[in-house]
Amino acid sequence: MHMPKIETNLIHQGEAFNETKAVVTPIYQTSTYFAGDDLDQYIIAATDTKHPGFYHRHGNPTNSQVAAVLAGLEKTEDALVFATGMAAISTAVLSVVQAGDHVITQHSLYSGAMLFFRNFLSQYGVTVTHVDQKDNAAFAAAIQQNTKLIYVETPSNPNLDITDLKYIGDLGKQHQIITMVDNTFASPVNQTPRDFGIDIIVHSATKYLGGHSDLTAGVICGSTSFIEKAWSRSLMLGGSLSPMDSWLLLRGLKTLTLRVNQINSNALRLAQYLEKHPAIRRVAYTGLKTHPQAQLVETQMRGGTGMLCIEVIGETSQQAHQHAQHVLSKLRFFANAASLGGVESLIVHPASMWGSHHNNEQKSTSGITSGMLRVSVGIEHIDDLIEDFEQALSEIATLH
Ligand SMILES: *Cc1c(COP(=O)(O)O)cnc(C)c1O
Repeated sequence: MHMPKIETNLIHQGEAFNETKAVVTPIYQTSTYFAGDDLDQYIIAATDTKHPGFYHRHGNPTNSQVAAVLAGLEKTEDALVFATGMAAISTAVLSVVQAGDHVITQHSLYSGAMLFFRNFLSQYGVTVTHVDQKDNAAFAAAIQQNTKLIYVETPSNPNLDITDLKYIGDLGKQHQIITMVDNTFASPVNQTPRDFGIDIIVHSATKYLGGHSDLTAGVICGSTSFIEKAWSRSLMLGGSLSPMDSWLLLRGLKTLTLRVNQINSNALRLAQYLEKHPAIRRVAYTGLKTHPQAQLVETQMRGGTGMLCIEVIGETSQQAHQHAQHVLSKLRFFANAASLGGVESLIVHPASMWGSHHNNEQKSTSGITSGMLRVSVGIEHIDDLIEDFEQALSEIATLH
């Protein structure tokens, strides 16, 4: 049979879950469902994994449909959606580890995940080793007899460093350790970790998957058996995605390839422009040939993403900080706001946003500097975005 491509699946996958005649899947804004009088049927509904017609925490028809689309995107057997990315990540990790187990992860992680690995798991008897994601051998060297999970994020936040997915996938297989990747930054348009043997893929669907900065959501993609386990944990942990947000996510996903391809193209143009600008010391962008791991990027990514990390010049760390603040205040189309992956461009100052989470040593391993700005490029016209940076950087450039 002909296998439809991603653009087609984004529109049609999971359609069978829509049992109505409506072309657009309805919002099932209900917490509970009529069970009928047949108690045998009721038992099935109450115990079936992800039953879309029993009680909302168990499942919802739109949640089933959106999960089918996401599993298709990530090439896994199944998927489970959550109210936030962190609900998906914490539920996924707690579906793998228990007291006495060991986890290997990287230094550079999304802040919520970093706090979960650093501060939360230790309270429940799980030990964690953090390694440099660019150093394959460090992952292998960290393996212990009780290692159950290798958790990575690539490209990482905010430095856009790359983890070698094929190496991690192979390492996990060789040692029977489950491998998990946060694929939020890349999105499945630019990177599909299953291609490299990664077991479980998690996302903050709040970002590229939703794509319009109007919802929070998360997803776990994995084998049928793993999703069943995660589902049983989710009944206790309780992070199910609401009917309305599930519907918005399904709607947002329809344009995923259009949005991400435009964002890739805009971000590349902006990175090329900024790289040559005298007020910019450094541009980290996975679409540039000058990315320190450009060769690895080539083997595992199909596009550069919309995420750029730039460093504004400054003689001292204090001056770089002032310059960063100046740029933030001058930009017109890049709002200083947390989050990323939407149709609108956003920018943040990582040192201000995450500085408080780190002690001095953690600050240095995180690689965050005072002149650093993280940019999430949207789908505005690229000429306007470049012009905006031109005017925001002009005073800094003339100072030097
Ligand atoms: C935003 C984000 C998360 C957390 O997702 P929420 O939806 O905010 O809970 C996790 N990982 C990455 C890479 C993110 O950018």
